Amino acid sequence: MPSTRPDLPPFPPTNGDAPWPELLPGWVWLCGAGPGDPGLLTLHALNALGQADVIVHDALVSSEILALARPDATRIHAGKRGGKPSPRQEDITRRLAALAREGRRVLRLKGGDPFVFGRGGEEGMALARAGIPFRIIPGISAGIGGLAYAGIPVTHRTINQSVTFLTGHDQSGTTPTRIDWAAVARASEVLVIYMGLKHLGRIARQLMAAGRPADEPVAIVTDATLPTQRVIETTLGTAERDAAAASLTPPAIICVGAAVPLRALLAWHGAAALASR
Ligand code: SAH
Repeated sequence: MPSTRPDLPPFPPTNGDAPWPELLPGWVWLCGAGPGDPGLLTLHALNALGQADVIVHDALVSSEILALARPDATRIHAGKRGGKPSPRQEDITRRLAALAREGRRVLRLKGGDPFVFGRGGEEGMALARAGIPFRIIPGISAGIGGLAYAGIPVTHRTINQSVTFLTGHDQSGTTPTRIDWAAVARASEVLVIYMGLKHLGRIARQLMAAGRPADEPVAIVTDATLPTQRVIETTLGTAERDAAAASLTPPAIICVGAAVPLRALLAWHGAAALASR
């Protein structure tokens, strides 16, 4: 993707005196692709896309990002989306190891950051046990970068000194039973909930029962960072009804807390789209 503007520095830039790392045959790079906008890939991810001869990717990795791969690269869809049949995690890790043993240059591309609700740790540990060399490339997580595209800062000096990231969905497909909702409700002024849309009503009720006010602001951001991004502002008391009324569909990142109304000044995404027309 070299820059076409001669007045701009070369893109991708050089890596100082060191070359960009080489994805060697027999290696797996476990890489985050960010929340969707290809501009949020890291340079390491872009470097990996240019080298991999097999890419094993999740459903959440956008087609614009896959378009940056080598044209002759094999793409394997290892989608894992709630409710739909998806390959079992053990099958994915077995496949990664088998491809590496065949001497392929394997890129395992996951949405957001591989170590944030992405089972990247499990895949890395399985590779380690199998003796397959690997590299981890972090990515921008939806709970930070996706909310930034909705004009929501996950920390703001006058609002919160901590933020809690949690999942609204566990391995069994229900609201996680291991979450201590009373503790979560007390933990941070701002909560960021992944995979929470399906059980939003239940989550909101648990938080209110634990003392969070019904009129506390909530934002639901679907397709964050993509041209199809939507943001609904609601409250804990009305979130379930408003999400249903808007027919929101996953992926959705949910933010609870006083950071949400900062959108009034910080929501830049629609404005930027208008300016670039
Ligand atoms: N590893 C990913 C999270 C994977 S879990 C990360 O760091 O972002 C999948 C969940 O991530 C989705 O259910 C949703 O809650 C969130 N998510 C990922 N991409 C998103 C996007 N573009 N917009 C909104 N939510 C997103």
